[in-house]
Amino acid sequence: MTAKLKTPLYQPPPAFDALWMPLIGRLLRWRWGRLTLQTPLLLIALLLIYDGFSGSPMASRNLATITPWVHFRGLAVLALLLVGNLFCMGCPFTIPRTLAKRLSIRGRRFPRVLRNKWIAIGTLFALFFFYEWLDMWASPALTAWVITAYFAASFVLEAAFTESAFCKYVCPLGSFNFTYSAVSPLQIQVKNSAICAACVGKECVNGSYSPQPVTLIDEIGIQGEPIKTHEHNSRGTPGCGTLLFAPQIQSNMDCTMCLDCARACPHDNIGLFGRGFGAELSRPKVWQNRYDISFLVIGLAWLGLVNAFGMVPPVYDLMQSLAAAFGLTALGLSDKLIEGVALLLIFMVGAGVIPLATTFAAAGLARMLTHTQKRDKLRVALASFAPIFVPIGLGFWIAHYGYHFLTGLWTIVPVFQEFLLNHRIGILGEPNWTLGGTPNLELIGALQAVAVVIGYAASLWLTQKIALRLYRRQMLAGFVVWALLLTVMLLAGLWLFSQPMEMRGVVIFD
Ligand code: SF4
Ligand code: SF4
Repeated sequence: MTAKLKTPLYQPPPAFDALWMPLIGRLLRWRWGRLTLQTPLLLIALLLIYDGFSGSPMASRNLATITPWVHFRGLAVLALLLVGNLFCMGCPFTIPRTLAKRLSIRGRRFPRVLRNKWIAIGTLFALFFFYEWLDMWASPALTAWVITAYFAASFVLEAAFTESAFCKYVCPLGSFNFTYSAVSPLQIQVKNSAICAACVGKECVNGSYSPQPVTLIDEIGIQGEPIKTHEHNSRGTPGCGTLLFAPQIQSNMDCTMCLDCARACPHDNIGLFGRGFGAELSRPKVWQNRYDISFLVIGLAWLGLVNAFGMVPPVYDLMQSLAAAFGLTALGLSDKLIEGVALLLIFMVGAGVIPLATTFAAAGLARMLTHTQKRDKLRVALASFAPIFVPIGLGFWIAHYGYHFLTGLWTIVPVFQEFLLNHRIGILGEPNWTLGGTPNLELIGALQAVAVVIGYAASLWLTQKIALRLYRRQMLAGFVVWALLLTVMLLAGLWLFSQPMEMRGVVIFD
């Protein structure tokens, strides 16, 4: 009888590993696992494009407007909070990646000067501005064009550059998800860093391509014979598209949860581990001290306020006042153009000037009060507190997207029934429009307030932790400055979400 000596290639996982959950873990680790998740989303995206171009022009009766603007956004923020970056994981826009990679001119990286978050900040600003100005939510055809443009941009950038430049540097949805997946309870991590230190190929980032299949030994018997092996396909697995190196990952920033790294690692040394909610936010130096990363995070929180402001009645009064103050009405411009200029001013001030001015002022004041001007550069002082804008920002977005999601939750059913009937498929019967129903606005309003207050409380908690770490005995002075700014944002949020949220797209200038 031969005794079997098991020599595991890795140490036991330090915590819950989603990749080893029954069934789901197997699916996630499977070579075609991501494609299995992407395919239904690709079919949905194609359906939305089709209905957007050919279906009802009424927003409330078209899948292209109902699905992304009511359901997708609500589910995406919920997933970020409870699981992780599930949208990027199942993102259908990256399906043409393999084809694009074959076409790509090898060796060319995204230009160095653009390898930062400034383009993403610009695309986020543009998306939210044009969404408000052009009433994208009310135009199925426009929404279909946006989805089509996404596929085209993703494909072109994948083909032109070796890394996933679209996901990492351009995509506004991805940037939103990267930022708020900081609160998610799952993160890519290696099991044993000693294995990585000895790893020659670094396949997690380089990919696991080889000219022929490679047989790897997982267990060796007592006589030295291999008793368990697995084969690495010669077609291999791509490495990390956003160029994250698994042993160094401390954050979900830039991680699309594609799991290519886990599939490519020949030592099964990567897990999707559980962690505390928002764990990375309170750890020092997890994000680089860069203005682009700081202003992505800070700007998104303020965009949450500005975007919600575009839904409440006072925005129309303000736009009319701005149009009068700048003499726009006297220029003979069309109502739509005047609305665009006034709205652009609101966006530039609310999501540009105010965040820049207040955060620079807070960072400068905190340095002065804590006597750390010589020790900390302004950039470092500001970047150290950038994480405090994540929970409060997420609270704003949950309150906003949750409102749309809960008020329009069941409308998808009659809209889908009507779509089928229009194509002579009667399996779901006549559309049941009563499902749209009258939502309980009081309850939804209370839930919105709860989301905003919880976000604020979590931000305050983070602020005191960071202030204590940076300023020790002087922490109170540093804490109070940033807490004041958060409190102003809280009050603005509570006021905004207590307003009746209106539909837009009406003629407002006379
Ligand atoms: S994660 Fe795997 S492929 Fe990457 S360095 Fe570690 S052992 Fe090597
Ligand atoms: S390959 Fe990169 S982006 Fe994909 S899961 Fe791994 S670390 Fe995240």
